[in-house]
Amino acid sequence: MKPWLDEEEARAAAEVVTSGWLAQGPRVAEFESAFAARVGAAHGVAVSSCTTALHLALHLLGVGPGDEVVVPSFSFVATSNCAVYVGATPVFADVEPYDGNLSVRTVEPVLTERTRAVVVVDQGGMPADVEPLRRLCDSRGIALVEDAACAAGSQYHGDPVGAGALLATWSFHPRKLLTTGEGGMLTTSDGELAERARRLREHGMNISAAARHQSRQPVLESYLEVGFNFRMTDIQAAVGLVQLRKLDAMVERRRQLAGSYQAMLGDVPGLRTVEDSPWGRSNFQSFWVELDPGFPLSRNQLLTVLAEAGVSGRAGIMAAHRQPAYAGVAHRELPVTERLTDNTLILPLFHTMSDAEQRTVVGVVRRCAGLRAA
Ligand SMILES: *Cc1c(COP(=O)(O)O)cnc(C)c1O
Repeated sequence: MKPWLDEEEARAAAEVVTSGWLAQGPRVAEFESAFAARVGAAHGVAVSSCTTALHLALHLLGVGPGDEVVVPSFSFVATSNCAVYVGATPVFADVEPYDGNLSVRTVEPVLTERTRAVVVVDQGGMPADVEPLRRLCDSRGIALVEDAACAAGSQYHGDPVGAGALLATWSFHPRKLLTTGEGGMLTTSDGELAERARRLREHGMNISAAARHQSRQPVLESYLEVGFNFRMTDIQAAVGLVQLRKLDAMVERRRQLAGSYQAMLGDVPGLRTVEDSPWGRSNFQSFWVELDPGFPLSRNQLLTVLAEAGVSGRAGIMAAHRQPAYAGVAHRELPVTERLTDNTLILPLFHTMSDAEQRTVVGVVRRCAGLRAA
């Protein structure tokens, strides 16, 4: 991944710097409304990262010690960490081989009376099939949080991913499509949750600093509950507003490049490329391929050959249950998670990637399989 940034983002950041209002202010408010509108959410609350958005989501739901939170192990580690931050126990569920996401089939067996929340991820931008999961969770009084960190611009049944979600979380790290350097957003359909989230991200204050500084009269704030400093700066939000206008173009180019990878790698034996699911349209934030024994090289061998050719591939998505940080957490067998994490790799894909660059990548993979260039 390489972020797509130009002079326009630089100018937007510079304007904020010279304005003198750098912390969460008017640009953040503007970015929140624009982003929420784009993803079909009633409310957007900007925060410092998707990790803090996830932490805030579970805090808002009142999840705490003694509670269980079902998460995919097959995700960036922040997805499981949020359960630990609030003192709850992460419970790992397996994922579907097709899209790498949780499903009713994998979640239902791990639900207990202590399950308070399920965090579903749209892995690599691939929309999870959330509708059946929402029904399952609703029927058991369990909250569904959508970790849409990677999925800005992806669609689910024709709507933006996260549309109508009770709580969805987003990342603006440079590894995702739309970036603000660091940054995140919590979107919600619930006005009261949004209001409380705004307060909690700003130390639990009853009046935002922005409103206080705009007032002509002295305002004495009070702290209604113990909150956090999860604020985003106006510099980040100004960059985000420019990036948001480019989101459709980013998705379009990524989908073009993904289509070319699929076409040029489709005949490689022992290699499967990620594909859209019947319920969604991916932004292809990560374009992964899975190798099986029909491919002559192992995943790590292929990564090495790619690196030697100057191509920066990456091992696929991690599995949290295998990390030392989670060594003590009991879990069921996670066969699909382990298969995917061991046998997938992510190929380079970025907005300004040229067709020639892509052919170079494809050429290396095809050569490894003993095939000629596509
Ligand atoms: C990137 C990512 C996060 C963390 O996002 P930050 O903004 O870096 O905190 C969380 N969950 C998933 C699925 C991610 O891909």
